[in-house]
Amino acid sequence: MVNVTVWNEFLHEKLHDEVRDVYPDGIHEALKAGIGTEGFQVATATLDQPDHGLTAEVLANTDVLIWWGHMGHDKVEDAIVERVHARVMEGMGLIVLHSGHFSKIFKKLMGTGCDLKWREANEKERIWTVNPAHPIAAGIPEQFVLEREEMYGEHFDIPAPDELVFVSWFEGGEVFRTGCTWSRGQGKVFYFRPGHETYPTYYNPTVLQVIRNGIRWAAPSGAAKPVRGNHQPLEEIKAK
Ligand code: ZN
Repeated sequence: MVNVTVWNEFLHEKLHDEVRDVYPDGIHEALKAGIGTEGFQVATATLDQPDHGLTAEVLANTDVLIWWGHMGHDKVEDAIVERVHARVMEGMGLIVLHSGHFSKIFKKLMGTGCDLKWREANEKERIWTVNPAHPIAAGIPEQFVLEREEMYGEHFDIPAPDELVFVSWFEGGEVFRTGCTWSRGQGKVFYFRPGHETYPTYYNPTVLQVIRNGIRWAAPSGAAKPVRGNHQPLEEIKAK
């Protein structure tokens, strides 16, 4: 059983009718339902809760944290970002979705600007699986289409991913590194692009399969915590 916490800033859904029409209970509830219960225990957390719902206890019991944010990035308290960052270093998995590319936690983990091109034009996105051997690609077709999405285009200002799993092409001509992984400390980070708030992307079965695969991949490996600092020899060092 993987313990998952879906974090959503939960602002657009309360402010904009066109978003509430698509996600009446919020993106976090749609993701929770879409991830399902087969092998997952899913909880949710939102910006307006104390500690944004991310108390030390919640994070200690979270194997994989999913992050959706957009208009409220600056409202996330730095102390909570530090807390999430420390848990990633300890081995908690982190899946950053869509506009989470500009979240404090993603920028801190990447160390780069994380900016990109964007356009809202109801255009088609075709997502190509470019690393079919990767566990996150399990069961995913060679390519699949989202009929309407926001465009994100290169250059995406990220450090070179450890692994590139998906690449998007957009109707207007741009391309984008849509599915990228990195390790940070003992933690695994997966960025997955789709999911603009006015489109029903998080009801798409293939998108949800990618997210489920991402959760399994990002779950802690169980490796022992590395010991650092001054170290006594494990074997006798012979005088030379
Ligand atoms: Zn968007």
